[in-house]
Amino acid sequence: MTDAPGAVARAYVGLGANLGDPMVQMRAAVAALGHLPATTVVGVSSVYRSAPVGYLEQPDFCNAVVALDTGLSPQALLAALLAIEQEGGRTREFRNAPRLIDLDLLLHGDRVVDEPDLTVPHPRMVDRAFVLLPLAELDPGCVVPGAGALSVLAGAVSAQPIERIGVLAPG
Ligand code: ADP
Ligand code: MG
Repeated sequence: MTDAPGAVARAYVGLGANLGDPMVQMRAAVAALGHLPATTVVGVSSVYRSAPVGYLEQPDFCNAVVALDTGLSPQALLAALLAIEQEGGRTREFRNAPRLIDLDLLLHGDRVVDEPDLTVPHPRMVDRAFVLLPLAELDPGCVVPGAGALSVLAGAVSAQPIERIGVLAPG
């Protein structure tokens, strides 16, 4: 199903940080999301801590998920997320490198996007407890297009070590 132009979709954005002060950067990212045009922040998950994957010689990661109601297209929302990363001082050294702030577009309504610079649902989200657990807080009945029920997907990653460490209280 394709949304009508200008229709509001429920989108989910994954936040990650492991340099600087992750809680501060993630809070700033939530504030920036709230300032996007045609966009309202409708939910923010708890924050979770997990060990890095891929490149191990770096600090643990903090992750959370933000729910948005947005009239932005997936492409426009991705561009906005990359701009927020830039404002947050993000640099790209190599894959899985440590980062001040990472914003990933996880879901955009029931849209499926397969373009060179944008894949939705985010292709690695279903493998990651640090995405699926916070997402389940916000929408336990969520169905990931092409992958199925979040409750089933979360069961498959339940062995991954991850710890709930707090909330992104406003302010
Ligand atoms: P990762 O988050 O996997 O560590 P990056 O944040 O460095 O990787 O993202 C690299 C590129 O991934 C972005 O420039 C963007 O074009 C692309 N990309 C494709 N699909 C998505 C998505 N759903 N969310 C965020 N970035 C995406
Ligand atoms: Mg990213």
